[in-house]
Amino acid sequence: MPAQLIDGLALSKSIRAGLAERANKLALRARAPGLAVILVGNDPASEVYVRNKVRACAEAGIASVLQRLDGSVGEEELIEHIRAFNADSRIDGILVQLPLPGHLASQRVIEEVAAQKDVDGLQIHSAGALLTGSPGFRPCTPAGVMKMLEHIGARISGSCAVVIGRSNSVGKPMALLLTQQNATVTVCHSATRDLAHHTRQADIVVAAAGRRGLVTADSIKAGAIVIDVGMNRSESGQLCGDVDFEGVREVAGWITPVPGGVGPMTIAMLLSNTVESAERTLA
Ligand code: NAD
Repeated sequence: MPAQLIDGLALSKSIRAGLAERANKLALRARAPGLAVILVGNDPASEVYVRNKVRACAEAGIASVLQRLDGSVGEEELIEHIRAFNADSRIDGILVQLPLPGHLASQRVIEEVAAQKDVDGLQIHSAGALLTGSPGFRPCTPAGVMKMLEHIGARISGSCAVVIGRSNSVGKPMALLLTQQNATVTVCHSATRDLAHHTRQADIVVAAAGRRGLVTADSIKAGAIVIDVGMNRSESGQLCGDVDFEGVREVAGWITPVPGGVGPMTIAMLLSNTVESAERTLA
């Protein structure tokens, strides 16, 4: 029996509808939640992500401000814009779209965002909160994956989970969130020998390597939950993940599509963090 589909688009829509209600309440009482998005340069993929985020904000009643900066902008000038948004009382969250051009130090730039506006959850402070299980903004993509697992009623406690990828924004926080829910987590990465050996044991596989076709049917246990975070382009230019969807769906119990899986959930979590930030500020 083919795997059941985890429809990230549908789930994100219902989450966003709930957020729109909360945003509306805030707007009636004080003001709409506000998100500032800073886009440096004109990377085509970043343009698409930013457009989707701005559109999702509008639909949820969140006021967004898009600050475009030239790809050659200096770090000082970029930081000045961040500080202006830090001081702007209408702004509850600040997102610096990554990746930044090579001459800019991403982490140093992100650290300039006021802690209470770090809705992307990528500051060292937020990472520490996640590590220690303290309150704080969680990075949006792994938070979205956890929502999907919750939605399908996945039994995480006691499960064997494999996370492929160890980036600060996806792989590492993903592993921490799963560990907090009592999964036994293996983190695989570019230096892992025999990736399939690990994934074959897993009840839950989260693929976040950015390598098309990395996860194939013969590397997945029957009935496993397979979450595809990857966003790649096929030779014909089509969006695809890290998982061989057609092959793996014949073996897995649950699978996320690309597009329409983790991507919309990431945006929903960004909006959720922004609304939460506004509720805290306007309480
Ligand atoms: P990254 O390049 O920072 O990290 C990739 C990780 O994959 C690294 O830790 C690396 O060690 C590992 N890796 C690379 N090749 C591997 C291999 N052959 N076997 C095992 N591990 C390997 O990327 P990232 O920012 O973590 O993003 C990962 C992917 O997820 C990308 O395709 C990105 O576009 C996508 N992404 C999607 C969303 C979304 O909302 N759907 C959000 C963020 C990232």
